[in-house]
Amino acid sequence: MNKAAIYHRPDSEYAYLYTAHEMRLRIRTAKDDLQSITVIAGDPYDWQNGSWQKSIDTVMTKTLATDIHQYWEASLTAPFNRLNYGFIMTDTTGQQLFYGDQGFESVTPSSNDNNGLMGASNYFKMPYFQEIDRFKAPEWIKQTVWYQIFPERFANGETQNDPNGSLPWQADDHPSADSFYGGDLRGIINHLDHFIQLGINGLYLTPIFKAPTNHKYDTQDYFEIDLHFGNKEDFKELVEKAHASGIRIMLDAVFNHIGDQSPQWQDVIAHGRHSKYADWFHIRDFPVHYTPTDNFEFTADANYDTFAFTPHMPKLNTANPEVQNYLISIATYWTKEFGIDGWRLDVANEVDHHFWKKFRDAMTSINPEIYILGEIWTSAQSWLQGDEFSAVMNYAFTGSIIDFFAKRQTKPSQLVHKLNTQLMLNRDQTNQMMFNLLDSHDAPRILTVAQNNKNIVKQMYTFMFLQQGTPDIYYGSEYAMTGQQDPDNRKPMIWQKEKQDEDMYQFLKQLIQLRHNYQNVLSEGTLSWQTDDENGIIGLTRQLNETQIAALFNTGTTNYDVSSTYHSAKIIAHEFYANQIIQPNGFIVTVINQ
Ligand code: CA
Repeated sequence: MNKAAIYHRPDSEYAYLYTAHEMRLRIRTAKDDLQSITVIAGDPYDWQNGSWQKSIDTVMTKTLATDIHQYWEASLTAPFNRLNYGFIMTDTTGQQLFYGDQGFESVTPSSNDNNGLMGASNYFKMPYFQEIDRFKAPEWIKQTVWYQIFPERFANGETQNDPNGSLPWQADDHPSADSFYGGDLRGIINHLDHFIQLGINGLYLTPIFKAPTNHKYDTQDYFEIDLHFGNKEDFKELVEKAHASGIRIMLDAVFNHIGDQSPQWQDVIAHGRHSKYADWFHIRDFPVHYTPTDNFEFTADANYDTFAFTPHMPKLNTANPEVQNYLISIATYWTKEFGIDGWRLDVANEVDHHFWKKFRDAMTSINPEIYILGEIWTSAQSWLQGDEFSAVMNYAFTGSIIDFFAKRQTKPSQLVHKLNTQLMLNRDQTNQMMFNLLDSHDAPRILTVAQNNKNIVKQMYTFMFLQQGTPDIYYGSEYAMTGQQDPDNRKPMIWQKEKQDEDMYQFLKQLIQLRHNYQNVLSEGTLSWQTDDENGIIGLTRQLNETQIAALFNTGTTNYDVSSTYHSAKIIAHEFYANQIIQPNGFIVTVINQ
């Protein structure tokens, strides 16, 4: 038995409450090392005749694996909402070991009493099923298919508010970093029917507060809608009309930094160390200065901390209680007064945990089911313990999917290992709320990444829509828009009928409908994988109760015969599937009701 590979941690994603009365346990071992694992558990206070009673004996299920590890999982309940638990591990030769809070012990008849090493004190503990600490996944979040809007480029609903020098709305234009086209909130309101038709039920808007740039990540006034986008009445109308159509609204909170045109930073420029905002920032010496370069967003020598090297985005000192109160008052205002449903947090991992915990408390006191989404590009466990974010933008997941399907850099088994590694970092409910995306305003558009191969894009969307997390579509992807890294990925939306890709639209609409129809299975169902590295085939099966959804993707170069696999299945969606053959870049999705 490879003891070095064995890992379990109480009160973590390895031992957590899934529902109020169901505890889920996980343990990691070396791959192909063990035959079985049994959880033995009992109420810590259940002593009879001087002997601690172990009332639970549950065989764990072998679930996901990586190239080196195997994960095992079990579900437990406890009549008194508390448990002691330990693991009996049996290797392939039949040798057994007990694994508990104090490490490994041999399993012998004498060790099974309370004086032995398997006594009550050597068990892991779930001291109490704390409902308040439970990471909760509200139903609405699991049911959402998101659509990301970059408001300056989505639609121009009224031309009177256009910035001076706005360019004509041409969908195939290549914007530069400082272009304006006149997009606004009215444009979004005017197109609510577009989302309803497509099946979208969540809109994520990049920043809409007053700011000089087209992207508005350099906030000047967090309490005002940018006047090029409209006003508060427009925003209220958008939220109300969206809600009336079952569409949720998420705004972008840029709290890591503020814009240099803000009154706070302007006061620092004017009064230096005597400014009442001097401690709102991370300033090394006064007066504040930097040397401009040809690139508006770069300086090498600012004497204050900024977002990246952008002199126009001084970083806020969120350890200062005044700053904390200010930022929370902003989020409170928009959440309470306008009834928004979520906050996407810009550069979330560069803001301190203390602040985000306060932020979550403040937001959930207004709306217990609010979605708090961190922008974090890597694994993000420490923000996903239930007291900070609901989820993060799942770029770590995206990267693995792109490397496999679009860049052809990995084999099917490698993709599975990478995705399983990500999934095992989180509690099941966290995985169900993850914000899965293929592209955004910060990444090249997925069709461009796939070198304009629409079939590969369809494979990737289908693959993503079958994962636990909530899928997101970046505006214009439904019409197969292209674009390199920003600003090229922020082209004006295609509204000219003849330029819209009707095939991609119908495909995504069908996929969104599949997600809605089988949301429970896709969100909560178990996951298993099938891989064929030689032929470039990857398959996954999601199952909940009697319903199975299975899919196979062909990334190889030859036809793949599935006649033996799916002879009895009800095929509900397919591309390049004929006579039970999946062609290269094709896939098949089936629903099987047992
Ligand atoms: Ca406008």
